[in-house]
Amino acid sequence: MTLSVIFLGAPGAGKGTQAAILARRFGFVPVNSGGLLRDEAANGTAAGRTVAGYMRRGELVPDAIVTDVVARRIRQRAGQRLVIEGYPKTAAQAEVVTRILAAVGSPARLAVNFVVDRDTLRRRLFARSEQGGRDDDLPDTIARRLDALGSTPSDLLAYYQDRRMLATVDAAPPVESVAEAVAALVTGALAGTGTGAGANAAQAVRREG
Ligand code: AMP
Repeated sequence: MTLSVIFLGAPGAGKGTQAAILARRFGFVPVNSGGLLRDEAANGTAAGRTVAGYMRRGELVPDAIVTDVVARRIRQRAGQRLVIEGYPKTAAQAEVVTRILAAVGSPARLAVNFVVDRDTLRRRLFARSEQGGRDDDLPDTIARRLDALGSTPSDLLAYYQDRRMLATVDAAPPVESVAEAVAALVTGALAGTGTGAGANAAQAVRREG
């Protein structure tokens, strides 16, 4: 079955790591809004320079720009299993991505919210910055990103909850344990039954209707 999975969660929650594992295990194609925006910034175009400023400040990039780059990538990967990471960050973006995914034949069936406490997020992001990290892994930017994006907005969660798609994963344990929890959810969603999956997956799938 072709379906897409949405990964929600704060910076440092491990969405990118888990998306890479999902790609290896289940053949999902990762679509990462932050990565696409970083590519755009690296291109040095006018739009790229605008994007770089927002990212350096740890602010959300305007919808028109981020939606355009994400939609373009989704259309390039039409009909494949996609794992969308970093988008949506707002309920408005959720409406948009639902429409785009349905239109290309890779409908979203599961939204996984990775939950980690703020201290762990801070520790992970600082560790990444010490290892060379990204341009926005700087102390001031990390603090601002955690303030702006440290918890998933309640209306965004409600969007997926209302559609019986939401599952929550404790993302504080080691990578492999989190990956097992995600695999159970995805297996349930792929089977369309929730069999063998955890309670959240069963719920996410059963209520899908
Ligand atoms: P991330 O890689 O998800 O941590 O995103 C890095 C930065 O890219 C964020 O701090 C935002 O500036 C920008 N960004 C990524 N995804 C979005 C989005 N869906 N909407 C707006 N800005 C975004």
